[in-house]
Amino acid sequence: MDTTTVGAPKDAAEGVPNAGRPDPSKDDGRRPVAWLHIVAPPSWSVTPSARSWCTCGYERHAIGRAAVLQLVAAHDEHRTACTLLNSTSEGRAAA
Ligand SMILES: [Zn+2]
Repeated sequence: MDTTTVGAPKDAAEGVPNAGRPDPSKDDGRRPVAWLHIVAPPSWSVTPSARSWCTCGYERHAIGRAAVLQLVAAHDEHRTACTLLNSTSEGRAAA
């Protein structure tokens, strides 16, 4: 018998093109965005509410005039602080 051991058994796990691809038809213009949605009825007796969320996972809710105003400010702040949003526009490091 010829018992010559030549190297180790090769793994055939190579050359698998485009294996785990997500559905490309869902998002064509793929980029992180932050949303801000405010519900503020004209009547002062109705408490306004707002929701702010971002693709990075940031999400906040606010109920009441003061809270909504704070949320708007926080949302604006997040847009400048968010690493996801900033990494797309320009790749500068935050100090
Ligand atoms: Zn974000």
